[in-house]
Amino acid sequence: MINKNGSGKSGMSNEQILGTRDLNVYPTQKHYYSKPVQLVRAKGARVWDNENRDYLDVIGGIVTISVGHNHPRIIEKIRKMLESDVIQHTTHLYLSEYMAVLAEKLAELSPGDINKCYFTNSGSEANELAVLNARVATGEQTIVALRYAYHGGTGVPISLCGQHTWKFRAQPAASVVHAVAPYCYRCPFGKTKDSCALECAEDIKNVIETSTSGKIAALIIEPVLGVGGFIDPPVEYHKRCYEIIKHFGGKYISDEVQTGIGRLGKHFFAIEDSGVVPDIITSAKGIGNGAPIGVAIAKSEVAEFMTGKLHFNTFGGDPYQTMQAAETIAIILEENLIGNANRMGTYIKDGLKELQKDFHVIGDVRGRGLLLGLELVKDRDTREPDTSGTASLMEIAKDNQLLLGKGGIWGNSIRIAPPLNITKTECDELLTKLKLSLEILNKSQL
Ligand code: PMP
Repeated sequence: MINKNGSGKSGMSNEQILGTRDLNVYPTQKHYYSKPVQLVRAKGARVWDNENRDYLDVIGGIVTISVGHNHPRIIEKIRKMLESDVIQHTTHLYLSEYMAVLAEKLAELSPGDINKCYFTNSGSEANELAVLNARVATGEQTIVALRYAYHGGTGVPISLCGQHTWKFRAQPAASVVHAVAPYCYRCPFGKTKDSCALECAEDIKNVIETSTSGKIAALIIEPVLGVGGFIDPPVEYHKRCYEIIKHFGGKYISDEVQTGIGRLGKHFFAIEDSGVVPDIITSAKGIGNGAPIGVAIAKSEVAEFMTGKLHFNTFGGDPYQTMQAAETIAIILEENLIGNANRMGTYIKDGLKELQKDFHVIGDVRGRGLLLGLELVKDRDTREPDTSGTASLMEIAKDNQLLLGKGGIWGNSIRIAPPLNITKTECDELLTKLKLSLEILNKSQL
């Protein structure tokens, strides 16, 4: 039986879904909230649960909804494709214009001479490919990654992650060394953003000199560390990292799975804010506005090293995914959404800084454009992470019809990443609901 949602079941209750998940879904697949929400409908920055209660969604899956849920232009394109029996699946063994159109567009939007695309289904796969390419290009194994980084859940990306939360005891070592993160709020060198000499970037040099043969394949860095809690280094940081990595002959991989598509409000790919042209950019999430697509985009001279070998990805570059990504990009550019991300991001950040004055639990406000984070602490002097307060704030905000994201190694960072076309009215709604939620949290802690 097919219900109106097409799920094959008609209206499972939350308890039924939870029961089935307990029985038939891996225990690693956790949900937000003690009483999780069943989301059934969405439009723009708003989502509805199975009891028709609406929520302002400022996390968009997880930093994936870049032009709003069910954007009318995307719906129209999908409808037209379905109505004209456009082939749903084909591989790169055949020709399809959808993949070609997207590859051409991404090459045009990428900095410098980055112009060769490899399409995947996810960010993890894009990073697998980027690392493989860097290793093939250099003939070296070792990758430098950052502590607090997140690069995905498949083999190599798990090794790249710099958070115990995402690692498994049985994970094989994979020639990865980790350097200190540019975590200004918790600077391991005791510096501040204004007073530092980028000691954290210099640590990359030290790690290469002390923990590797002195030769490395690549450095992989997120312009702003997403899952780590929107850790936002000074823009000069990446430039210094680039100089260091080039000195040791490695490739620079910019993981833009969260920061790409103009979310930081300045350039299409955030690494451009630092004036760096990396060797490979990886992207996913927001590039497809919900379609399962990832991509590694490399300089020709780097991609050329893969020549002579075959590499296959069954679904990578499928017509519907690539159409949706191309349309998402067209919407971002034509509707000037990078500018909107900048304006609305500044507006929200100013509002968050105001809240910080009144609510001592907010230790740090950080981020750029529409990738904004709050780090919650029990005490502003000791900066002890407030893990339980963050969990409570998430629940309270949900009860106030606001869906926030969470991150950070101690689960004490609130993540805010709404669609790039969020309106000022919605920003006000976000700030009002957040303030109300913080007030309730305060009272509950008295
Ligand atoms: N890189 C970064 C920076 C990410 O945030 C993520 C996902 N959170 C990934 C890679 C992995 O992407 P996916 O979950 O699509 O495999």
